[in-house]
Amino acid sequence: MLKIGCHLSASKGFLNMGETAVSLGGNTFQFFTRNPRGGSAKDIDPSDANALIEFMRTNSFAKILAHAPYTLNACAKVPSIREFAHNTMLDDLKRMEFVPGNMYNFHPGSHVEQGIEKGIELISELLNDILWEGQTTTVLLETMAGKGSEVGSRFEELREIIDRTNLSDKLGVCLDTCHVNDAGYDIVNDLDGVLTQFDNVIGLERLKALHLNDSKNPLGAHKDRHEKIGEGFIGTEAFERIVNHPVLRDLPMFLETPNELPGYKAEISLLRSLQK
Ligand code: FE
Ligand code: FE
Ligand code: ZN
Repeated sequence: MLKIGCHLSASKGFLNMGETAVSLGGNTFQFFTRNPRGGSAKDIDPSDANALIEFMRTNSFAKILAHAPYTLNACAKVPSIREFAHNTMLDDLKRMEFVPGNMYNFHPGSHVEQGIEKGIELISELLNDILWEGQTTTVLLETMAGKGSEVGSRFEELREIIDRTNLSDKLGVCLDTCHVNDAGYDIVNDLDGVLTQFDNVIGLERLKALHLNDSKNPLGAHKDRHEKIGEGFIGTEAFERIVNHPVLRDLPMFLETPNELPGYKAEISLLRSLQK
C-alpha cells in the first residue's frame, strides 16, 4: 500500500493533521514546524502529540515528515543568520522528540558568494553542533533545484555533507521530484539511471522519503516551481513509474503541489490508482 500524504497546516495541532490526512486518503503527512518564514513555534501539547502517536498506530501510518522553515540558511555568510538556523533547527529537533522516530527535512542552504565548498563545510558544521547521540528523528537533506547558489542540487554535494557529519547515521535524503528535474536529473526518461547515480554517489539506503511534485519548468531549468501532478514537465506517466519503482514504492511520499485539500485528495487517489 502506497505511503502517501500531503503538506498540511499545523495550526490545529498534531491529531488534527492525522485526521485530515486520513480524510484525504493519506496515511502520512508533512507539516511546517513553525511559520515557514521562521519565527517562534507554538508550545507542543504533549497530550496532542500522544493522541497523534496513538492515531498513527491505529491507522497504520507511515513516518511523518516535519519541514524546517525554508528561510533558514545553515551556510549563510553572516554568523547571526547561521546562529538563527542553528537555534531553530535544534529547537525543532527537541520538539520532534514528542513524536519520536519520525523525520525532519531541511533545505541545506545557499552559499551566496562563498562557494559550494564553503557552503558544504558550514552546513556540516551546523549539523555537528545540533545532532545528538540519543535523538530518534532522522534528519533529511532535501535535493534542491539549484536555484541561485543553493547547495544540494548535485548528489555529490549531499554526499559530502553526509561525509563531514559525525553522527551521519542520523542523516538521510528526501528526493523532491520537481527539484531533481530542475537540477537536470532526467527522472522522466531515465529514472533507473538517476537512481543508479543516487546509489553510486549517496547510497540508496539514505533515501528515506520523496516529495512528489510536478514541475512548471523543463529538465535542468534550475527554477523550483511546483506544478500539480500530471500538469507539468514530469507528467503522469513518469509518476506512474515512480510510484511503482521497486526502490521507491515503499518510501513515504509527500505532495507539495499547488492545491487546496480537495486537490490533494484527488492527487492522492490518482497516485493510488497508478500503483499496481
Ligand atoms: Fe522543501
Ligand atoms: Fe520539496
Ligand atoms: Zn520546491
